[in-house]
Amino acid sequence: MRKKIVAGNWKMNTTVTEGVALARAIVSKKNEVPEGVSLVVAPPFTHLTFVAAALKGTDIALSAQNCAYEPKGAFTGEVSAAMLKDAGCAYTILGHSERREYYGENSAKLVKKINLALDNGLKVIFCVGEKLAERKMGNHFEVVGAQISEVLFTLTPEQMKQIVIAYEPVWAIGTGVTATAEEAQEIHAFIRKTIAARFGEAIAEETTILYGGSCKPSNAKELFACPDIDGGLIGGASLNADDFLAIAKSY
Ligand code: PEP
Repeated sequence: MRKKIVAGNWKMNTTVTEGVALARAIVSKKNEVPEGVSLVVAPPFTHLTFVAAALKGTDIALSAQNCAYEPKGAFTGEVSAAMLKDAGCAYTILGHSERREYYGENSAKLVKKINLALDNGLKVIFCVGEKLAERKMGNHFEVVGAQISEVLFTLTPEQMKQIVIAYEPVWAIGTGVTATAEEAQEIHAFIRKTIAARFGEAIAEETTILYGGSCKPSNAKELFACPDIDGGLIGGASLNADDFLAIAKSY
């Protein structure tokens, strides 16, 4: 049975005080989440140590939203994978479409980042997804296939076991427009097939593939009912503990 995950990407939201309060609110109602559904929260860098303390003693995992593509040194403003591990992270998100779009995150940089993250004992939530124009032209399989092959195909099978994939169509992120369950299932199945072609059926079957993009309590159930959707990467709705937990309870 592959792992079911509901992960909250807080992006550049909340102060440390608000973030700790949000984490505590999630912890206080975690017992409502069905067994077998793992929760992950990804606050901003400045919050990590404090949120780690708020999560201590629970099985809610801490994630960063990004990491540097160099291990250490003169890279002003960057945060290394080793620092994230030291701060209590179990995961880092990599390749989010906002990083790809606004910060020039390309596959070459992502290969470096993913290796550093894995070398430092972090699991990776690796984001892929097409833009609206690419979907309209019917190129979404090609785009997502390339995002996967350029980065994940460089990994060893052992490394691949530490990867969670998040399919996040760019046109659905923060827009209120969600992919239909059929659209999402179709491409999740394609992603699993792509992983199977490189790493074999067993690894593909064990790979958790999350859906992200305007996922909320009202649509999570239908999405999570799809056979190849193993949970969600949640942006906006993860900033409210009740909404985040309601999504996790959709299983
Ligand atoms: C995201 O950016 O990872 C995301 C899924 O955002 P939202 O849920 O707000 O669309």
